[in-house]
Amino acid sequence: MNKTVSELLTFGPVPSRRLGRSLGINNIPPKFCSYSCLYCQVGRTAHKEVGLRTFYQPDEILQAAKEQISAAQAAGEKVDYLTFVPDGEPTLDMHLGETIDLLRSLNIRIAVISNASLIWRDDVQTILNKADLVSLKVDTVNDALWHKINQPHESLKLTKILQGIGKFAEQYPGELITETMLLAGINDTREAVSGVADFLEEVQPANAYVAVPTRPTAEVNISSPSEEVIVQAYNIFSEKLAHVEYLIGYEGSAFAFTGDIEQDLLSITAVHPMREDAVNEMLLKAGLSWDVIQTMLDSNKLKKVEFAGKIFYMRQLPVN
Ligand code: SF4
Repeated sequence: MNKTVSELLTFGPVPSRRLGRSLGINNIPPKFCSYSCLYCQVGRTAHKEVGLRTFYQPDEILQAAKEQISAAQAAGEKVDYLTFVPDGEPTLDMHLGETIDLLRSLNIRIAVISNASLIWRDDVQTILNKADLVSLKVDTVNDALWHKINQPHESLKLTKILQGIGKFAEQYPGELITETMLLAGINDTREAVSGVADFLEEVQPANAYVAVPTRPTAEVNISSPSEEVIVQAYNIFSEKLAHVEYLIGYEGSAFAFTGDIEQDLLSITAVHPMREDAVNEMLLKAGLSWDVIQTMLDSNKLKKVEFAGKIFYMRQLPVN
């Protein structure tokens, strides 16, 4: 069945840990991108682009968003964010700023999820300043790894991008978050992770997300690091940054206390590892014994991980 224009340009709302109920906006067609990331869920980028140009008209997107919001409201669903998250790079759209201005009339917060490759451009920074939340990709600060993982357009330079991120962060009035995708055997070493953490310490994002591939990737043999390596990365980030969470394929929330201890532990450990003493404290408060944890370990819901002489518990990685 052919999709309507509104369905092509928008989707959702879908639940997002970062954004609540997020209505997605496809402001560019699939795979118009400046990168061809090894882990891309949409396949390889046939032609990498860096020039800003027209894809759709801003009023077409506004109309599509209005229709999608009406449909969501009719179904009793709320929309917390309008999120530019196409299957490509949203800042390639030369009308992105104009579209954000038009969408303001809908009185819903606006987010842009960008790969940051064009953030060194003043005009792109001016456009992104219009959004309430911007997410920037920082998978690595190492040039060789960047070429390997993100396979950038040949004209791009990592040093310029990193400088651009720093400059943007200094003046951006909204909420800046970052996302770092960890790939097993590629950028998951202590050294590679520390490099990113040192850089992000300068940027001070409101939240730094550590992600792992949880869906089929563009290239074969791309996989998630083990739970042990994820806990190591989380701890390296946490030494430098106030707010770190991981994205391992569960839309958990560290703040969703239900009173059901198993559910609460799963929510928290889907977001960050818990130290053994914190788990003990939770059990004590609930008047429960360690049997609860043992049962969760036995049923592969939780994983026990040792790091720097301490025991942590994290949610077991989902099986693809
Ligand atoms: S930046 Fe995003 S859309 Fe572009 S190749 Fe990477 S993962 Fe895919």
